[in-house]
Amino acid sequence: MATRVALLSRDQIDRLPERAREVVEYRKSGLSLNHIQGCPLDCAYCIRHTYGLWDQRVPRALMTDAEAVDELVNHRYFQPHITPVQVFNRATDPFLPNVRPHTFAVLEDLDGRALRNHVLVITRHSMKPEDIDRLGQLRHVKVTLLFTYSGIDNRTIEPYPSSVAAESLKLMSAPERRRYRTILYWRPLVPGLNDTDEHLDEAYKLAQHADATVFTGLFYRDQIAEYYRANGLPEPYEDTARRKIVPETLERRVLVAFDSGTPLFRKTSCAVAYAHGLPDYNGHYGIRELCDICPLSQLELCASAHRAPSPDQIRQVARALPEARDLVVVDITERAAVVSGLETEQPRYYLQHALGFQVHDVRHPHVQRRHGRADIGWKDGKQDA
Ligand code: SF4
Repeated sequence: MATRVALLSRDQIDRLPERAREVVEYRKSGLSLNHIQGCPLDCAYCIRHTYGLWDQRVPRALMTDAEAVDELVNHRYFQPHITPVQVFNRATDPFLPNVRPHTFAVLEDLDGRALRNHVLVITRHSMKPEDIDRLGQLRHVKVTLLFTYSGIDNRTIEPYPSSVAAESLKLMSAPERRRYRTILYWRPLVPGLNDTDEHLDEAYKLAQHADATVFTGLFYRDQIAEYYRANGLPEPYEDTARRKIVPETLERRVLVAFDSGTPLFRKTSCAVAYAHGLPDYNGHYGIRELCDICPLSQLELCASAHRAPSPDQIRQVARALPEARDLVVVDITERAAVVSGLETEQPRYYLQHALGFQVHDVRHPHVQRRHGRADIGWKDGKQDA
């Protein structure tokens, strides 16, 4: 029997940082389940830095898998068949040897409930031939495996080599008939680290194996910047930013490196939706400049699903959430609904997924041509709120 991770005691859980104790959390690409936390892979830019969890290198469980799935499906943000779910994407790798039995237990539990939600599983670890059969037995959930690959060869930044994820992607993509989908999750792209023509060419070759490819930059928030400085690592940017960073010239070179027969996306949800033959569940179609690289058939699919909600519809959906009682619909355009009165981002994601339409917070206006990307490295963006 496969080794599982140790269960933390109540006392140990109480000593964790507050955000780490939040096992179900809405993140941009879906409702995220994280009852196992800890990772030995040590990527310098890991999001664990921002949760006060960086020193937790050994995966530990905060509850059993059955309890965690119960908490997920009974969460006020969870909508059967609609809410996209992510498993272990915040604080561990789902295919670490002792985490993988938990990953399968969660997937099989969700599938056993006949749920048809998207389930995203992001890994950079090695997968095995028997994983193909086990995932092949899932009948309902729409599983997408996203293989994090950067091509970074600086071992102080990424001690665990990208080549492992590349091999996993090839292995899991090989069967011609399979229900789960595979994505080359090409990130983080960092100028000076992994953006030579050779790096781009390698990624292009790898993309030939995947059902779709997403490219994104680096989350470079204050805690991660501090880690870079404390460890004498070469700092990629002078400033930190709330959104991911992909400088414009690098994006242009990426687009040139790919051809129209290799589906490439700027947004994770777009790639996931495309891979399953569905319209984007985040409603990015409204943000027209995101779609200029999308395959025509997908563009048509998203266009046919694109419907701006009325203010009443938005309020109706928001009624399910106590934290959205002060919601004000400020504006609705073809691009997005703009709202105010939400204290955190989580209810906004709930509305977005329930409506299949972009919902923006009036306090964080998106900027044309760099939707969801940081200011650093971009010029001439126009305000779009
Ligand atoms: S058409 Fe636009 S919104 Fe739809 S998947 Fe393509 S890029 Fe995303």
